[in-house]
Amino acid sequence: MQAKKPTEHPQTTAITKERQSALAVAIIGAGPSGYYTAEALTKACPSCQVDLIDRLPTPFGLIRAGVAPDHQSIKNVARRYTSTNTQDNVRFIGNLSLGRDITLGELQNLYHAVVLATGAAKDRKLNIDGENLKGVYGASAFVGWYNSHPDYKDLNPNLDISAAVIIGNGNVALDVARILAKTPAEFAGTDLARHARHKIACSPLKDIYIIGRRGPLHSAFTPKELSELQKLEQCTPVVSPKDLPNLSTDAFDHLPTMQKKNLTLLLAMQQPDPKDQRHVKIHLNFFRRPVAILGTDHPKAIRLEETTVNDDGICTGTGKTEKLPTGLIVSCIGYRSSPITDIPYDDRLGRFISDDKGQINPGLYTVGWARRGPTGTIGTNKPDGAEIAATILENHTPNPAEKLGRAGLDTIIEKRGLDIVTFSDWKKIDQAEIDAAKEGESRHKFPDIDTMVAIANADAPKTP
Ligand code: NAP
Repeated sequence: MQAKKPTEHPQTTAITKERQSALAVAIIGAGPSGYYTAEALTKACPSCQVDLIDRLPTPFGLIRAGVAPDHQSIKNVARRYTSTNTQDNVRFIGNLSLGRDITLGELQNLYHAVVLATGAAKDRKLNIDGENLKGVYGASAFVGWYNSHPDYKDLNPNLDISAAVIIGNGNVALDVARILAKTPAEFAGTDLARHARHKIACSPLKDIYIIGRRGPLHSAFTPKELSELQKLEQCTPVVSPKDLPNLSTDAFDHLPTMQKKNLTLLLAMQQPDPKDQRHVKIHLNFFRRPVAILGTDHPKAIRLEETTVNDDGICTGTGKTEKLPTGLIVSCIGYRSSPITDIPYDDRLGRFISDDKGQINPGLYTVGWARRGPTGTIGTNKPDGAEIAATILENHTPNPAEKLGRAGLDTIIEKRGLDIVTFSDWKKIDQAEIDAAKEGESRHKFPDIDTMVAIANADAPKTP
């Protein structure tokens, strides 16, 4: 087995007694909630040592694999995480997978606190016939594909189709529709996966349907994201007037701000400019829920049932159905966290069970989507991280049991010959991706773990 290079902060190799009793925290998952937790911990307790562990060789989680490639400015927050990671007491340890390389029990033996910041990487199920056909994808798979996530690089969706259906009325549904609708020129300066860039450019797609099971006033998407659909080069959003509420001026004025703004935008979309030459349409269809996907190997159509929504916002099927021909279905109906053996998990909500401060059991915590479910913006994770850090510090006793912390982890890594990726390794991968960008790309994200690990290992000493 290959011997691993020493970890990057030399002071940890000569661990002192004093350091052994300093608060040692392992955070599983190097996405936004993990980084905000590390930031809050090190700010409040500069002597603590934090290891951010990720199964991928790359940090930043959703910033890299979830945020839309044409929303580059949102990705700038990675600079903040980078500055957290350049502190001596914070390490990134990538390509280290819980379950495959190390167990949760081992980490709990080594660290005073372990935080599950594993996000919500699995798709919620539609639970309808035909859901498992090739050509029906959940958002994490489809978004992962166009974002070069190593798990989904080989998804290879068929975009040689004229109509696509997107289920759900959240911002992820709008992201997927917008990405499918954009021209190559509109992807200039983005990090859209090269394999997706080519397929989207060659697709003859003319109609993209976004299906909401409730009405415009119940939509989860936000006005800024909705308004982006109006600015597309070759595509127009359209809404049927019969799906829009006919409100009095007074009722409209009393709507919450988000609903008022969404409705104003949707009202404008019901009257497309007759001179509009854009040949692709995004149809925002409301009051319809999917009941079956039809096809043998691939989807040929989706059956939708009309719904009504009562005053409490509950939707019920009317029994009236329609068939919408389509060759691609992307279900954007929310995510679930991946359970971990023996860790309390709420199967209905798809997240870990913790107390009101995020503690699962003594020494084990959860934060971000893994704690509260898949809602909110990247920034919502900041107060979450601060809260978990405060809970950990509150629970940390002045003379804690001695824990080996990072020195103990380094020993396991070395003994098992694990090919981990450090933050300085990541910087090499980062630079290589920027260098590999062709004209029009902000970077060429490597979709392949072996390629990234090889770059990380180039010129690295092979003995400890
Ligand atoms: P979301 O906002 O929770 O939206 C999920 C949508 O799926 C809802 O419209 C929901 O309808 C619908 N749905 C759920 N189950 C369904 C079913 N069985 N059949 C049909 N429809 C179903 O989730 P998301 O879009 O995945 O976004 C996750 C979070 O990330 C959100 O907080 C979002 O704002 C955020 N995000 C933000 C951005 C951005 O700021 N640019 C981009 C992407 C994501 P009901 O309401 O009827 O349940």
